[in-house]
Amino acid sequence: TRQVVLASRPKGEPTPDDFRVETVDLPELADGEILVRTTVMSVDPYMRGRMDDRDSYVAPFAVDGPLDGGAVGEVIASRSDAVSVGQHVVHGLGWREHAVLPAARVRVVDTDAAPASAYLGVLGMTGLTAYAGLTAVAEMKQGDVVFVSGAAGAVGSVVGQVAKALGASKVIGSAGSAEKVARLRELGFDEAFSYRDKPVRESLREAAPDGIDVYFDNVGGDHLEAAIGSLNLFGRVAMCGAIAQYNSTEPTPGPRNLAIAIGRNLTLRGFIVGHYEHLAAEYRERATQWLADGQLQADETFRDGLDAAPQAFIDLLGGANTGKMLVRL
Ligand code: NDP
Repeated sequence: TRQVVLASRPKGEPTPDDFRVETVDLPELADGEILVRTTVMSVDPYMRGRMDDRDSYVAPFAVDGPLDGGAVGEVIASRSDAVSVGQHVVHGLGWREHAVLPAARVRVVDTDAAPASAYLGVLGMTGLTAYAGLTAVAEMKQGDVVFVSGAAGAVGSVVGQVAKALGASKVIGSAGSAEKVARLRELGFDEAFSYRDKPVRESLREAAPDGIDVYFDNVGGDHLEAAIGSLNLFGRVAMCGAIAQYNSTEPTPGPRNLAIAIGRNLTLRGFIVGHYEHLAAEYRERATQWLADGQLQADETFRDGLDAAPQAFIDLLGGANTGKMLVRL
């Protein structure tokens, strides 16, 4: 089978030369294992962190070793009683056309109820990140004014729509292009702006003259600083990501106005979705309903073929995606 390996650790922005596609033999199935033909795989910003050799919440990728990540595929051989041939499963060995893994490490999904891609996006880790961040981390309440950055991306687009569904009085999103801003308005965002037009601080002030109550941070940097400046008394920040600094080779400065947090009684709370699995069933149930009644739309951007996966990942960091970036195999 074919797989993508990390050829070298990226310095700053990844380039195609940092990746290599190679052909390897598949191992024999051991007892309890299954063979999956992957049909769709996810590329995610957190993978950039794993390409560096540093201590984090998830182990770094090895140079010359295969990459991995979320994927969905069809079981084509099984030595497990729990999972049978023909079923579709979510698994963690993406970036390869076939995967051999213990049946205990996969989750069977119903691809008649929702397309395979949804289990990586809106009904998967992405959607749960948005929901857990809003509800459990930022403790969003009805009537809150909510601001989300990276708003046209996979997590951000769900954050804005779910915030509306949960009764936010106003939802504001920022993104990197006029097309994305237009899409945010179609999705029901009350206000949207491109962070490339002028300083975020100014755009946010105009969009929320009376301040914001919740900031869902996907970007960090100038976005976080602007949000702190606009947060109302007892405002809350869910620190989800800091994509503006993922390619940085030097430590980046913190928000210069952090001391505002004292006087305004702010809460800034980081989180990793893996610690909020207890909300997954509740979220999937609500999201399924929101999808059915049209309150939630799942934007997706597809690339085709394993050879396109490295560029899909590079382009994700560059903002080529609207909604969830996926690779069909
Ligand atoms: P997205 O679909 O949002 O894709 C990344 C987007 O980031 C791009 O489309 C681009 O959109 C934007 N971007 C890139 N560079 C910059 C920059 N310098 N400033 C502002 N925006 C930028 O990816 P995800 O939805 O998967 O992830 C969104 C965030 O959530 C990431 O920070 C990720 O690390 C984090 N995350 C955290 C999790 C957790 O458990 N804490 C789980 C999952 C994701 P644009 O055109 O608008 O610039």
